[in-house]
Amino acid sequence: MALLEGKKAAIFGVANERSIAWAIAEAFYAEGAELAFTYAGEVLEKRVRPLAEGVGSKIILPCDVTKDEEVEKVFADLRDAWGGLDIVIHAIAFANKEDLANPYVQTSRAGFHLAMDVSAYSLIALAQRAAPLMAERGGAILTLTYMGSEKVIPNYNVMGVAKAALEASVRYLAHDLGPKGVRVNAISAGPIRTLAAAGISDFKSMLHHVAERAPLKRNIDAEEVGKTALYLCSDLGSAVTGEVLHVDAGYNIMGM
Ligand code: NAP
Repeated sequence: MALLEGKKAAIFGVANERSIAWAIAEAFYAEGAELAFTYAGEVLEKRVRPLAEGVGSKIILPCDVTKDEEVEKVFADLRDAWGGLDIVIHAIAFANKEDLANPYVQTSRAGFHLAMDVSAYSLIALAQRAAPLMAERGGAILTLTYMGSEKVIPNYNVMGVAKAALEASVRYLAHDLGPKGVRVNAISAGPIRTLAAAGISDFKSMLHHVAERAPLKRNIDAEEVGKTALYLCSDLGSAVTGEVLHVDAGYNIMGM
């Protein structure tokens, strides 16, 4: 039997076919999952809808995660359509471009709030509505993070601080939701060329640096994140929760 046969997964964060969320969706689809997708605005709907329909998805909904009413509606619609939910993928992050280029010390209050709201609080907003739908069947919630939460990565700046909050949230959510049979984990992915990555100044040199220094002497691709997501969200990862798993060709273990 396929690993996700009969499972229902809601995927937040597909912008286009290069998105990490899309690679995860493809991995889940190949293992039998039924998928629902959200998109952040009308422009994105044009890109997301054809991709989603290509994997047989019938549930494609707008959701700006900074708007509680939109988040609420997504989970109400999922409850009506599916009666429950097994998996949530949270692959969402945003910071102002100037906050990913100027020195971190210049971060504005508004820029800090925005990065935290979209990139960290949104996981809580999704988890608190997903958990009741998962309660009787168990479930898995997975988010995406980056090593800029642990070490200084020049230009990652306020996003590194938001990712640190996100990773701490993974642990607190895992503690709260564990008794209900809901697991919460994060994948800390190495750099991958996507739309979001294009917003980080000098992203190209991050890719070079990793290929030179990571134990595997290369970068990773989104498909490899998809495979790890499959492990964490299927029965293969049934005893794993509160974890931040690096999928980065080993780069994070290096000291020098
Ligand atoms: P991506 O394709 O650009 O995906 C980012 C998604 O976040 C987009 O769909 C974007 O929609 C969405 N988003 C932003 N603000 C939103 C909001 N207010 N409401 C709802 N959605 C919103 O880039 P990606 O690289 O796959 O990013 C996915 C996740 O992986 C992010 O959390 C990112 O930090 C993480 N990650 C990426 C890398 C990397 O190197 N690419 C490495 C480690 C971790 P819009 O396009 O409409 O803004």
